[in-house]
Amino acid sequence: MPEAPPTAEGYEEGLKFTETSQYKKQFAAAISSARKFLTDYKKQHPDDTNLAIVSDLDETLLDNRPQFRLHPIRSWDIFDKWIQESKAPVLKPTYDLLEWARTQGYAIFFITGRPEKDRKPTIINLVRDNVSYDALYLREKHGGPPAEEYKTAVRKKIEEMGFKIVLNIGDQYSDLAGGYSLDCEKLPNKMYFIK
Ligand SMILES: [Mg+2]
Repeated sequence: MPEAPPTAEGYEEGLKFTETSQYKKQFAAAISSARKFLTDYKKQHPDDTNLAIVSDLDETLLDNRPQFRLHPIRSWDIFDKWIQESKAPVLKPTYDLLEWARTQGYAIFFITGRPEKDRKPTIINLVRDNVSYDALYLREKHGGPPAEEYKTAVRKKIEEMGFKIVLNIGDQYSDLAGGYSLDCEKLPNKMYFIK
């Protein structure tokens, strides 16, 4: 979810990059590495319970390109209108990974930078896309502490509830920094950068 809009040129380039084989390769490599880590962890710790995965939503599971193709990122307001429509399709490789992981006993926690007021359209979007999950964390409001700080605090809370976060997956470094996960997987995104 864009907070600081990139330059129009950088943004266009980032959108074009998503159509390249390089993007698809990077995406597939991260998903494949995640799947291997989750498989190996289960093998090595057959008696562990309360295993969890943390995933970001925008550009990790939910694909906002239908909107970005129509409107270069200019403001939160424009993006927020799109959120209200609840019609972002899924990024299939992430969707498949999470569906599979859930059958392996991993709980799925979403931590998104979307504000709490967008909980309802976000849930409608996830239901429309047939996404199964265990909890959805949104920010109290837009703005506030940087994404890294907020997301790390939520992961800490999840672990304090007794879960072990085996995988954390996201398209921004701010999704992944800060600990409280055994493995981190970074998906490609050159369209925008969130601190
Ligand atoms: Mg994201």
